[in-house]
Amino acid sequence: MTGATRMEISHPDARADWAQDPSAYRQALRHFLDAEPALERWRGADYPTTEDRMTDNAALMNVLSDGGWNRYGWPAAVGGYGGDERHRAVLYDELSAAGLVVPEQYKLLETLGPAVLRFAPALAAQFMPSYLAGGEWWGQGFSEPEAGSDLAVLRCRARREGENYVLSGQKIWTSHGSTARRLVCLVRTGTLESRHRGLSMIMVDAETPGVSIRPIALASGHNELAEVFFDDAVVPASRLLGEEGQGWAVAMYLLQFERAMYAWLSATVASRRLRELRAMLTGRRLADGVVRRFGECYCDIVTLKARSADTVRRLAAGQTVGPEASIDKILLATVETGLHDLARDVLPDEFLFQDDPVAQQWRAEWWYSRASTIMGGSAEVQRGIIADRVLGLPKERGA
Ligand SMILES: Cc1cc2nc3c(=O)[nH]c(=O)nc-3n(C[C@H](O)[C@H](O)[C@H](O)COP(=O)(O)OP(=O)(O)OC[C@H]3O[C@@H](n4cnc5c(N)ncnc54)[C@H](O)[C@@H]3O)c2cc1C
Repeated sequence: MTGATRMEISHPDARADWAQDPSAYRQALRHFLDAEPALERWRGADYPTTEDRMTDNAALMNVLSDGGWNRYGWPAAVGGYGGDERHRAVLYDELSAAGLVVPEQYKLLETLGPAVLRFAPALAAQFMPSYLAGGEWWGQGFSEPEAGSDLAVLRCRARREGENYVLSGQKIWTSHGSTARRLVCLVRTGTLESRHRGLSMIMVDAETPGVSIRPIALASGHNELAEVFFDDAVVPASRLLGEEGQGWAVAMYLLQFERAMYAWLSATVASRRLRELRAMLTGRRLADGVVRRFGECYCDIVTLKARSADTVRRLAAGQTVGPEASIDKILLATVETGLHDLARDVLPDEFLFQDDPVAQQWRAEWWYSRASTIMGGSAEVQRGIIADRVLGLPKERGA
């Protein structure tokens, strides 16, 4: 990092101002991202494997944390400099606007971090500083082979034994499960019949004896997801988020951030990828309708950003974001599928035949975008929530 930048960002008054003023923070951050030569390696970076990507993204987090830039939006108790969700949204927006990668770890931090902070502040104080510095990241262990859309039937059990819980069962589709240092798991502490009332949330170290993690190779060839097995893994009761039996409330709190911040972050990345796609077409002859499709895709991204910005502002104001966040989720899936279908159609040779890193990245992203209507809550379920709980439509006959 340059000496000038260090001086600028270590100015205590400036930091205090930025925590109160996301626009001032944005200006300073933009200047840093444009001027700092050490960031060049993360501009438009492509990665051959998920493991490479996570390691390299962690190094970017370390640079950002070292300079203080990714500490805004988080409280002092976890090594932050204050501010709120708007600061984090600005960080992702400016990284993407500068053509830089947004570290993948931020998606999981946005999904899990606020709930850990709220329901287990001691764990947040212990582990989040390292997370912000790229030293570790966490996976979300909710889904099971027989429990996805309906998590109330999940079976992975945690039985209390003295000061510990003993975990047995299985999780599946854990994003970055094989590189995460810790897993935040929704587990059953009550009877199966107690459904969502018998669930608890607990943070488990991946290295705990009795935890085994098996990567799942995706169609793209990347090991982005994992299966996690618990075979009498002993976890201290101090690792609970909230109280025993409060897991569903923690999950509902968490979901607001998963919907709002994840969608915003992904929208900023989609903006960058659309710009990069347009740049790749310079000098090529375009088929009929391509320009129109670019326009449609751009409008979808702007729609998502407008909607998601409102959700982020509500979170920053301390409001609860309810079932209407399902709208953000649907808009995100529209953007993800639309953008990558456009890339597939305008880059036919890259998609079919080329193996350079740029082509591989587009192909891997296209495969991943197929999951956008199922991961984190399927589009059908989201539409059901919007119909029932936002619009208050009557139930369908026979439903
Ligand atoms: C890329 C990817 C990453 C993921 N990452 C994680 C992660 O990090 N952590 C984690 O815990 N999980 C993760 N998941 C799992 C994901 O959250 C589940 O796949 C999702 O919740 C759906 O559950 P399911 O796969 O069991 O499908 P099911 O619930 O079995 O659904 C199957 C089909 O039935 C439909 N359906 C089900 N219920 C209804 C209903 N009530 N109304 C209408 N239609 C319905 C669904 O829309 C779907 O089409 C990930 C999944 C993917 C694909």
